[in-house]
Amino acid sequence: MKLKFHFCFFCLTILLSNCKPAIKEQKKPKLIVGIVIDQMRYDYLTKYANRYRKGGFNRILKNGFSLENAHYNYIPTYTAVGHTSIYTGTTPSEHGIISNNWFDKFIKKSIYCVDDSTYTTVGNNSVNGKKSPKRLFTSTITDQLHLAQNMKGKTIGVSIKDRSAILPAGHSANAAYWYDGENFNTWITSSFYMDNLPQWVKDFNLNNKADEYLNQKWETLYDINSYVNSRSDDNIFEGKLTGQKSPTFPKDLKTLRKKNKNFNLIKTVPAGNTFTADFAKATIIGENLGKSDHTDFLAVSFSSTDYIGHKYGVSAIETEDTYLRLDKDLEDFFMFLDNQVGKDNYTLFLTADHAAVHVPAYLQSLKIPAHYLNITNFRTFVLKTTKKYFNSTDLIENISNYQIFLNKQKIESLGFDVNTVAQKLADEVINFDGIYKAVTARTLQTTHFSSGILNTLQNGYNQKLSGDVLMIPNPATLIRGRTGTSHGSGYSYDTHVPVIFYGNGINKGSTTKKYNITDIAPTIANLLNIEAPNGTNGVVIKEVLKK
Ligand code: ZN
Ligand code: ZN
Repeated sequence: MKLKFHFCFFCLTILLSNCKPAIKEQKKPKLIVGIVIDQMRYDYLTKYANRYRKGGFNRILKNGFSLENAHYNYIPTYTAVGHTSIYTGTTPSEHGIISNNWFDKFIKKSIYCVDDSTYTTVGNNSVNGKKSPKRLFTSTITDQLHLAQNMKGKTIGVSIKDRSAILPAGHSANAAYWYDGENFNTWITSSFYMDNLPQWVKDFNLNNKADEYLNQKWETLYDINSYVNSRSDDNIFEGKLTGQKSPTFPKDLKTLRKKNKNFNLIKTVPAGNTFTADFAKATIIGENLGKSDHTDFLAVSFSSTDYIGHKYGVSAIETEDTYLRLDKDLEDFFMFLDNQVGKDNYTLFLTADHAAVHVPAYLQSLKIPAHYLNITNFRTFVLKTTKKYFNSTDLIENISNYQIFLNKQKIESLGFDVNTVAQKLADEVINFDGIYKAVTARTLQTTHFSSGILNTLQNGYNQKLSGDVLMIPNPATLIRGRTGTSHGSGYSYDTHVPVIFYGNGINKGSTTKKYNITDIAPTIANLLNIEAPNGTNGVVIKEVLKK
């Protein structure tokens, strides 16, 4: 009887709610633009704030919604993984893109995340288009948009880097385009997407914009003495372009391009971002994005920021100048969107695929703990360990991405237990200078870490693909030369990135609440009233959305 009453009450509630007058539906966006800035730290937003113009970063900060404490929640914080996690709403544990390159334990060799030899290059005769998203296990927000609209609406990825165009665009993409430099100077794609480049891409490839950009000098946008947020121009913590005597301005690109793989030089200078924006605009016009009754999705990644960060580091005038110039490109791009698509017709989000650490040598000079880990010495140390405890140097198949892959067949043939070997290595590698924590895959399979750095390690661990021993280096540790910087860790200098939503359906405001990067995709899905990607474990950020 009690049950029946509950049932009737439930029906009544539904009936009543159906009688409510219909709420005026918000016009849905005609275009979603995802902007990912490669290696952008959150503090680049605040550090250069008074140097940015009104219409760039400041426009979307002022009129959009900013997550001030948004983080990556897995290790390793690399480009392919970052882009994939933004667009899938999940971590490598589910989506399977565990790094840029990794050791494939099934075919016993190192692979690159988007390589696929079954396809060919479309656009020129290089091998650089033999790519696809086949290693991505889950769906993307771009796939979900296609599914929700019965494959109507276009989803396209654009970036200088292949992986930053392919992974965001998803499996069902209409296209992904990336830049083939050196002596090719062509925006290309893969036969995975199409057999021929559209006419507008062919036309774009015939323009000589890249030449124009490379026949200039890179000088600072403003008086070099005004770059008070950065170290002095000439210092020992910055790398140099090949052919430069010092890491200083001006950089004569016309002369330098000969020694820096010709058109590849554009990737390493701010003009690479301008060039990407040029192509993104050509995509919107060429494909009529934002003009149909269906929602289109353009995923753009600005990659030159990463090449520049790697070379010069976090506090370089080159880096500051790159962001001031990118801000100008963004101002111009946003105005283009206003005019081409209409101010109220698009929604965008801007974030980064990871951040970066201050140059460790610079930190050391300030007495802040930082390390350089010598990978050759580390390999020797691991082999000595297996020799000492198991009398063999053949037990290791591969060491990469701070993971050890064991040769299980060999271990078993010698009568040892794989888990025993893995645990011994985890216990011993901790004695190597620069290794901070080490756990076995078995530990990650049997223990749930709900917070802290071991939780981020667990989110990056994929049972099918990852190694047998996983390590975490000390904070501010890099495996590279002493100039410039990198990323990849689970520490906040690598995980803290900007996330700004702006446009149709987005509130104005900001929050200091902690969110994960995996919350972007479900939030956009909710905005569009579509299903989130199939592996999503992020949450919908309600405060961002007007509805
Ligand atoms: Zn990156
Ligand atoms: Zn990078």
